[in-house]
Amino acid sequence: MIVAKFGGTSVGDAEAIARTAGIVRARLGRAPVVVTSALAGTTNRLIEIGQQAAAGQLIVALSIIEELRARHFATIDDLGVADDIELVTDTGVLFDELAHLAEALSVLGDVTPRSLDAVSSMGERLSAPIVAAALARIGVPAVFVDARRVMATSDDFGRAEPRPDEIAMACRAHLLPLVRAGKVPVLGGFIGATAQGVTTTLGRGGSDYSASLFGAAMDAEAIEIWTDVDGMLTADPRVVPGARLIEHIRFDEAAELASFGAKVLHPSTIAPAVRKGIPVFVFNSRRPEGSGTRITFDAPRRPVRAIAGKTRIAVVKVRSPRMLAAPGTMRAIFEVFERNRTSVDVVATSEVSVSVTVDDVQHLEAIVAQLSAFGDVSVERGRGIVALVGAGLGESTVSMARALAALGDLRLHMLSLSATGINLTLIVDGDAVHDAMRRLHAAFFEGGSA
Ligand code: ADP
Ligand code: ASP
Ligand code: MG
Repeated sequence: MIVAKFGGTSVGDAEAIARTAGIVRARLGRAPVVVTSALAGTTNRLIEIGQQAAAGQLIVALSIIEELRARHFATIDDLGVADDIELVTDTGVLFDELAHLAEALSVLGDVTPRSLDAVSSMGERLSAPIVAAALARIGVPAVFVDARRVMATSDDFGRAEPRPDEIAMACRAHLLPLVRAGKVPVLGGFIGATAQGVTTTLGRGGSDYSASLFGAAMDAEAIEIWTDVDGMLTADPRVVPGARLIEHIRFDEAAELASFGAKVLHPSTIAPAVRKGIPVFVFNSRRPEGSGTRITFDAPRRPVRAIAGKTRIAVVKVRSPRMLAAPGTMRAIFEVFERNRTSVDVVATSEVSVSVTVDDVQHLEAIVAQLSAFGDVSVERGRGIVALVGAGLGESTVSMARALAALGDLRLHMLSLSATGINLTLIVDGDAVHDAMRRLHAAFFEGGSA
């Protein structure tokens, strides 16, 4: 059994869905379970609906709903599945529900994380039945399964934590019998439900994570992530046009790249696969004949496998000549971040200061207020991180020197080599991230050998 996840562009319109259906049909012999994202761009529009409605712009919200309704029904028509009465009725019902939600939000004048999840989950609730119908149309015995019956989560709306034991139980109850009967279950990614049945989401880009959680729950032989690029590349091709395909990469390298900006995988995707030792593949649904990227434990070690970067990072600095050296202070400082559910990416310390980077700035005000107990706190927004990732990086003095030389006169604010020697992170000005990525890429992948 394999889990095959198709991202937004792989189900963006009828043509893409038909291509995706063909890919699934070609894999019937491997007993696929299909996980699908929303039609490309839908989740952004849904979030806008929630925000506009809550801001009193009900007309704007309803007009976006109409635009999405037209697009989904056009897709149903173009796929030739408009004679599927159940699909057409259920799609209409979902759009009516969405309109009611928007009206309720506009009355309340407020959108909570819980109600935003109700709205933003609609993309996958709409897309999965359409993909199932497209599969059935070409003779694949597809069965739509509401992912909320299987993806059990906490009630941390907007970033719900999956409950692996419950998910495994639900997969055994609802998915495996279908697979054994030769059927192809089709589920939306990204969405889940609490024990009380309230709809949740796993956070943006979370469909990859859904796929790996389902794969781990069912001991799949492979997890396939189908997207719009040939696989994992040596850098984001939108930033570095010369980025190259990585044929084989280690789990730990892929996880580092994902958490430092390689959007091709949601940062949490790797962990469930690692726990069960399930290989993850990344393929291009526009070029299914490509070899893609294979992610496993045992790719040969390289000093530099790839480069990632992200912007809109904040650096939080705490300075105190007296307190930082005191035992327990570091713990207390990190507890502030933990209490505020904010994860820290890069850390640098000196005798009198500690600097950390965060990319989720939602709770920054509270964090700063609580950190003031330890000394002077300053926040530098608009920074960026560039990460150089390779399992052999820590042992390669040449690579380290080459990286710093490549950055030339770009201003460096922080620098850190992970304890495992797999990741060199560099904090630069936000608007220098892309330039830094291109310089590093040129130094390691264009011309010289890594
Ligand atoms: P999907 O909708 O299929 O989940 P995403 O947009 O989430 O697709 O992820 C694919 C995108 O990730 C690519 O189009 C590419 O621009 C970006 N990306 C960033 N870093 C990398 C990388 N190292 N390798 C491949 N793609 C990357
Ligand atoms: N549709 C969701 C998003 O856009 C999840 C995903 O595509 O992975 O964030
Ligand atoms: Mg994605």
